[in-house]
Amino acid sequence: MRQSNMLIPTLKEVPADAEIKSHQLLVRGGFIRQIASGVYSFLPMGQRVLRKVEAIIREEMDNIGANEMVMPAMQPAELWKETGRWNNFGPELMRLNDRHDREFALGATHEEVITSIIRDAVKSYKRLPLTVYQFQTKFRDEKRPRFGLMRGREFVMKDAYSFHDSFDSLDQVYQKMYQAYENIFRRCGLNFRAVIADSGAMGGKDTHEFMVLSEVGEDTIAYSDSSEYAANIEMAPVTATSTSEQGELKELKEVATPGKRTMQEVADFLEHPLDKGLKALMFKVDGNLVLVVTRGDHEVNDIKLKNLYKAETVELATEEETKAALGAGFGSLGPVGLPDDMKVVADQAVKSAVNVTCGANKDGYHYVNVNPGRDFKVDSYADLRFIQQGDPSPDGKGTIQFARGIEVGHVFKLGSIYAERMGATVLDEQGKAKTMNMGCYGIGVSRTVAAIVEQYHDERGITWPAHLAPFQVHLLALNMKKTEQKQLAEKIYDSLKTAGVEILFDDRAERAGVKFADSDLIGIPLRITVGKRAGEGYVELKQRATGEQTEIHESELLRQLN
Ligand code: ATP
Ligand code: MG
Ligand code: MG
Ligand code: MG
Repeated sequence: MRQSNMLIPTLKEVPADAEIKSHQLLVRGGFIRQIASGVYSFLPMGQRVLRKVEAIIREEMDNIGANEMVMPAMQPAELWKETGRWNNFGPELMRLNDRHDREFALGATHEEVITSIIRDAVKSYKRLPLTVYQFQTKFRDEKRPRFGLMRGREFVMKDAYSFHDSFDSLDQVYQKMYQAYENIFRRCGLNFRAVIADSGAMGGKDTHEFMVLSEVGEDTIAYSDSSEYAANIEMAPVTATSTSEQGELKELKEVATPGKRTMQEVADFLEHPLDKGLKALMFKVDGNLVLVVTRGDHEVNDIKLKNLYKAETVELATEEETKAALGAGFGSLGPVGLPDDMKVVADQAVKSAVNVTCGANKDGYHYVNVNPGRDFKVDSYADLRFIQQGDPSPDGKGTIQFARGIEVGHVFKLGSIYAERMGATVLDEQGKAKTMNMGCYGIGVSRTVAAIVEQYHDERGITWPAHLAPFQVHLLALNMKKTEQKQLAEKIYDSLKTAGVEILFDDRAERAGVKFADSDLIGIPLRITVGKRAGEGYVELKQRATGEQTEIHESELLRQLN
């Protein structure tokens, strides 16, 4: 391509709102442009990189037998009501009405759509397992869109969904998917770790996140310095002991800040239908401090709560009150007024939920996903505290280190909850209806592009890994007014293009300094400069990443590139 024909609006200055390198460099390099907070265009260069990342993902998905399809972004509210997520997904779900006043969501994720398709299209266990995937624009009205492509409100995701007639079958596909994710992120040249991301406290279903190690990551991971052990320490300002799926925590956290809450709000928090993890809230009712611990799949509606506590509203405990109460020891506190079956759950929660004992209701200070017993050992509750750097690894091998991570991928054994709620069944061998099991697997494709830039840049610009770069070769003619330079550059351009090399030809009438600076910024791995020695047929060859450079005769170029 000729640069004079391409839309590559590079910038000298760092955009004022861009805090991290990937955001700065992708905007400055003319890869992306923002149109509204968290909403970006991929300009031609950005689109080329995105396509390359997609190609790697597509290859690995096809390789494990997943089928590519595309589902609509516009999704009827009825589907989301079937799973309860119309109400529970919270403000992150973008909603709109059509001209007939029918409600729609812009897809934040596609469990509902795919489950409705599969329930109609697949009737027999013989058709399972089945895995589908898509590349699609997702919409999430993030509270704090930031860092460019890292946290957008409109972004590209690869999402895959698998359907099964047994949990064993789900296990197998999950394993394959996990392996495919490892291949994908390795091929993207990323330094990453797969981490456990589930509370596991209630024998919860497996889920792993793929974290690119980076100082700008929004997650903290704890890993062993001498084994495979790694877990996400999610800091969430709620007293939940597990992550809920798909960002629903955003809504829940509103409930967990101290202050007056209605029983309806408390119930919404405690019985969140798609979060089967343990949750705890501490509140004051009638002057007593009460700790309620529950599991997301327990029914704890507001009427039950009102009956139990004889109150319409409660006051959530402050951090100090919680600390004081917990400091006195759990034994004296205990879960109050719960039905027997919930007491068992509560007891387990108390035994396993480190965050419950480490300052319930303290904003920003809850370790989710790290559980005593599973993740580290404790001899008594009095010893419970946040896991720290230097603690022994739970698997006994090495010590715990902390690192920041960017979540680029997430694999999740959903089990049967969506299929149950949406009535997705198949007939088994005996002709009996059986609820399907399901897995979901996401990759933030646009976020991955940003993560790559975080790991591949220097002070002058991006240093793309060769196979992800928008072009393989950047050809610069330093002075297009000089006939011998122009002619030689045109000749090289034609011959490399004919040979199938992806080449960008800077044929603009710009100064040499501008061309060099733009070239460094854009970060194409190999640069050919046609300058002073063009008359003799000599050009300069320079590696962007290493700075290594040589002079070479143009007749040697093709051989050198192969
Ligand atoms: P996060 O914890 O960063 O909010 P998530 O856990 O809500 O992400 P998932 O529902 O697991 O995200 O979606 C699958 C993948 O989509 C994530 O692993 C991430 O790479 C990507 N992703 C999620 N939200 C965004 C966003 N706002 N902008 C860009 N990519 C995103
Ligand atoms: Mg989220
Ligand atoms: Mg997450
Ligand atoms: Mg996730």
